[in-house]
Amino acid sequence: MSESNLLKSLDYSVLQQCMHCGMCLPTCPTYDATKFERSSPRGRIRLMREVADGRLDVGPAFADEMSYCLGCLACQTACPAGVDYATLFEAARGEVERRGVAGGLRRRLVRWATMSVLFRRPRLLRALGRLLWLYQRLGVQTAIRRLAVVRLLPRGLQRLESMTPVVRAPFSHQRIAPRETPPAAKHRVALVTGCVQDLLYAAVNRATADVLLANGCEVVTPPWQYCCGSLHAHNGELELARDLARRNLDLYPVDELDAIVSNAGGCGSHLKKYAHLLHNDAAYRDRAEAWDAKVHDIHEWLVKIGVRAPRPSARGLPDQPLTVAYDASCHLLHGQKVARQPLDILRLVPNVVLVPLPEADWCCGAAGVYTLTQPEQSAKLLARKLDYLAGVGAAVVATGNPGCLLQLETGMRRDPRLAHVRVCHPVELLAEAYAAESRK
Ligand code: SF4
Ligand code: SF4
Repeated sequence: MSESNLLKSLDYSVLQQCMHCGMCLPTCPTYDATKFERSSPRGRIRLMREVADGRLDVGPAFADEMSYCLGCLACQTACPAGVDYATLFEAARGEVERRGVAGGLRRRLVRWATMSVLFRRPRLLRALGRLLWLYQRLGVQTAIRRLAVVRLLPRGLQRLESMTPVVRAPFSHQRIAPRETPPAAKHRVALVTGCVQDLLYAAVNRATADVLLANGCEVVTPPWQYCCGSLHAHNGELELARDLARRNLDLYPVDELDAIVSNAGGCGSHLKKYAHLLHNDAAYRDRAEAWDAKVHDIHEWLVKIGVRAPRPSARGLPDQPLTVAYDASCHLLHGQKVARQPLDILRLVPNVVLVPLPEADWCCGAAGVYTLTQPEQSAKLLARKLDYLAGVGAAVVATGNPGCLLQLETGMRRDPRLAHVRVCHPVELLAEAYAAESRK
């Protein structure tokens, strides 16, 4: 099917689902911030329908509203009519890209991150990661910042430099063998190591492999993996997202696997939708359906196979209760509807005491590239999250998505109330508990 008029090409019933009840409005962070109807889910759906009906042009105002939307999908969870906001949103952003009306910095960034090869070439991405790691590790970044050389850069680049995340080598392929097999394996699973996760949080991937092994899963981890394409689809680059989906379908031996496991809420949400993405591709459609049925978030998979509780008598675990606040990744909670399982996993860890976090289901402001495209709103959402985290006083904050880990970590390191608090993925705590079992 032609990519023209993406909103028009949708099944019209998807556009008609909204019954304008407004029950989604209190859950929408951008409506909460503005109280403008056009910045609410209901308002955006109305705009999309007007575009589909040919009553509204896709101009800068429409593009701005789609860019302002976090894509957090809280509205989808709240909606009693089952509105498929994710599909509408992807089509709307795709239409904005197709018409070339996405504004300034956002457009350049999206193009850079997608069209300009980086997230399509894993070797190039890792090479850049290695360079960044050296830049940080050798102290060049610190020196440049101290000498104020950064101030010579254009303002946009200054801001980008200040947001450079800490790269943490070694990366996943250096920590995890292509195939790791436990004694008496009961399942065979592939581990998706991700892009951001690989460069910044490869330790989470190692911890994921460890908990899978401890639960009788043989772990297959291709050393060079393609981006899942969520960043591309989320930003309207649907053809690139399809290309990446096909590459992943070619890479993994789907028929030989019991599951394809992701530990990143955002990636997992997209990986489960390859069949939808490729529904017009006769060569890949069937394989994509088989793939979707096997993709699981790590928490979901562990609970499904009956995750083993670590032995509480193990030495090496903290003697004191460890207070943990869980903050839900939007795409894990609202996109994948994986709500209970991360809490179940955390409850298994000896000495962990869960502390309820107000608005744990509210976006932290990470939302893909939202920190770059909408820095002010992203910062407001982060500040709101940090206030709640400071209020609960937990020793650890756990969340299941690298973008959220990065956003929280960045905010907490700068906040004296939270600088001492550990940020981690739930599986890291479980992996540590398993590791403690074998200590003498
Ligand atoms: S995806 Fe999030 S920000 Fe966008 S309309 Fe829905 S609730 Fe609001
Ligand atoms: S809750 Fe659902 S049906 Fe009601 S206004 Fe929001 S999107 Fe429309």
